[in-house]
Amino acid sequence: VFTDGYFTMNEDEAIEFTKAKLGFFPADAELTCKEIGDGNLNYVFRVVDVNSGKSIIIKQAGPVARISDEFKLSPDRNRIESEILSLQDKLAPGFVPKMYHYDPIMNCCVMEDLSDHEIMRGALMKHKQFPLFADHISTFMAQTLLLTSDVAMGHKEKKELVKSFINPELCEISEDLVYTEPFYDCPRNDVFPGSRDFVREFIWEDRKLSLETAKLKFEFMANAQSLIHGDLHTGSIFIKEDSTKVIDPEFAFYGPAGYDVGNVVANLIFAYVNALFTGPSDQVEYLERTISEVIDLFKEKFLALWDENSVERTARYEGFREYYLDSILRDTAAVAGLELCRRIIGLAHVKDITSIEQPETRAMAEKICLTAGKEFILNRELFKTGGDFAKAIRQSA
Ligand code: ADP
Ligand code: MG
Ligand code: MG
Ligand code: MG
Repeated sequence: VFTDGYFTMNEDEAIEFTKAKLGFFPADAELTCKEIGDGNLNYVFRVVDVNSGKSIIIKQAGPVARISDEFKLSPDRNRIESEILSLQDKLAPGFVPKMYHYDPIMNCCVMEDLSDHEIMRGALMKHKQFPLFADHISTFMAQTLLLTSDVAMGHKEKKELVKSFINPELCEISEDLVYTEPFYDCPRNDVFPGSRDFVREFIWEDRKLSLETAKLKFEFMANAQSLIHGDLHTGSIFIKEDSTKVIDPEFAFYGPAGYDVGNVVANLIFAYVNALFTGPSDQVEYLERTISEVIDLFKEKFLALWDENSVERTARYEGFREYYLDSILRDTAAVAGLELCRRIIGLAHVKDITSIEQPETRAMAEKICLTAGKEFILNRELFKTGGDFAKAIRQSA
């Protein structure tokens, strides 16, 4: 039945699939299954062997997005997800779940259960702190982004990866939802009533801002720089005190390296703004410090990896390394800005902000995000250090 053709599984069928296709559990094991997906696009089953307590995760791509059947998506994104998780495990060992199996008929993959971790967005909203996070995520990003670039790979070999990680439908989602719709009065936007006037005047009526978003959109579509995760927000990060795991790379494709770094920065800013209104002041300080450290550690590790791994003669010409890193920091600022705007104005919001119940407070929080966002986009050339990012955030708040 699991070989005839693709269908989306329910919990019982996920157990059947486990028994029929995977050799993880004894043949007579008593298995339970729960669908635990909370994302927008896919179904996530946790299958547990009642006796041993051993468990696995099955993630299946549905044919349409859960949030809206307007988005029809090729289930091939599940192949991309399973292949990139295996690759990232080699490039940055320990920072992604182990990938056990991929099934091209059912469009599902089977991976390590990370239920002993928690999703970072929720943890930060509970005002938890993770002192090792900046070190972990900067290692993950420096290694995955530099080691898949033309700096560190043979250019033909790299182009093979570009071919296999081609992801047109999910790229289109980002092109529309991140780069286009939030910056005009698009019907698909979802603007909080208390922010509408501000959005119109401050964002939609700003012609200079729309011009910059056009430049950035064309860079996003044309810059096959690194194999990026493509959706690296705090909901794609599993965390506990001593461990950080990046999940959900189905948007992966060859794009601007700063896209990932910028998404991490913006989503830490959402947590920062949440903490400004709901948290103790030391949470605000922790998040500001973390944003600054993510940037500075990323730079340091990226430069060190460059020296150890560059295979390209021209990449060793004096000054090129710094020129290249500068351009990533510029993209980081720009993408942080786009993400800050699109999560306030566009279709998909973040809990850090929508959970703020008091309407006036939420409007204030949204104004801070948009002010910082526009600053990052318009002045993206000026962001060179962690301190530069932290200062812009403080000044918007
Ligand atoms: P989507 O692509 O639909 O956003 P995600 O990969 O983000 O799917 O997974 C959705 C949710 O499923 C996560 O927020 C998490 O709660 C759970 N989940 C996903 N992968 C794992 C895993 N390896 N271990 C435990 N829970 C997981
Ligand atoms: Mg997700
Ligand atoms: Mg809070
Ligand atoms: Mg996803």
